[in-house]
Amino acid sequence: MKLILIGPPGGGKGTQAQRLQRDRGITKLSTGDMLRAEVASGSSLGKQAKTIMDAGQLLPNEIMIELIEERISQSDCEQGFLLDGFPRTVAQAEALDAMLLRKGTKLDCAIEIKVDDALLVERISGRFACAKCGEGYHDKFKQPENGICEVCGSTHFERRADDNEATVKKRLEAFYDQTSPLLPYYKEQGILQELNGTLSIEEIAKQIDSILDLVPTGKSQPATHL
Ligand code: AMP
Repeated sequence: MKLILIGPPGGGKGTQAQRLQRDRGITKLSTGDMLRAEVASGSSLGKQAKTIMDAGQLLPNEIMIELIEERISQSDCEQGFLLDGFPRTVAQAEALDAMLLRKGTKLDCAIEIKVDDALLVERISGRFACAKCGEGYHDKFKQPENGICEVCGSTHFERRADDNEATVKKRLEAFYDQTSPLLPYYKEQGILQELNGTLSIEEIAKQIDSILDLVPTGKSQPATHL
């Protein structure tokens, strides 16, 4: 199964991706997490990424395409993967299609999680995650019991540097200007599924499960011309 989650920042992609990885064993690839790891390591990509991420903008397509191409070639992606945060532009989507075609395969499903802006700001401003395993929490909706991560038992939590109001506005602009054109792109391919992201985490999870249970997975014709 090869699928992508599309939605605005704070729309719940990360939460659902985390759950799908845990419950279905699908390898989750979050480009945001990959970039945050680069920032934490102090690499030159990390330094470049930090400035762009703090400004709520998107990194150049070429960098992101190279990053994801290298990652999906690894063995844990052979049976499929779930992309959270990639593609974010039509150029990235076209590059992804081309790289999958070269491997004789294709995307099975693109799931759009729709949420209104007002709710997004509330969700983003209260969120934090376990510093060890990345499990997501929220000041209002999901507090770790006794300050202990329910998944790994860690007591260390962190908030993202770009989860502040000014940066969130820029990230939303980037979503509407550059990422929302992916919706007609995947609709045309016949693989877009839409769902209401204002429902509870459990309800959204249930709906994603019903979608995935019905998705036909398959290979494309091998690319003989490449
Ligand atoms: P996320 O954790 O998915 O919200 O990503 C955090 C930030 O990382 C974004 O606001 C961008 O600055 C950068 N980023 C992540 N994925 C991409 C991508 N596919 N293309 C460009 N920039 C990205």
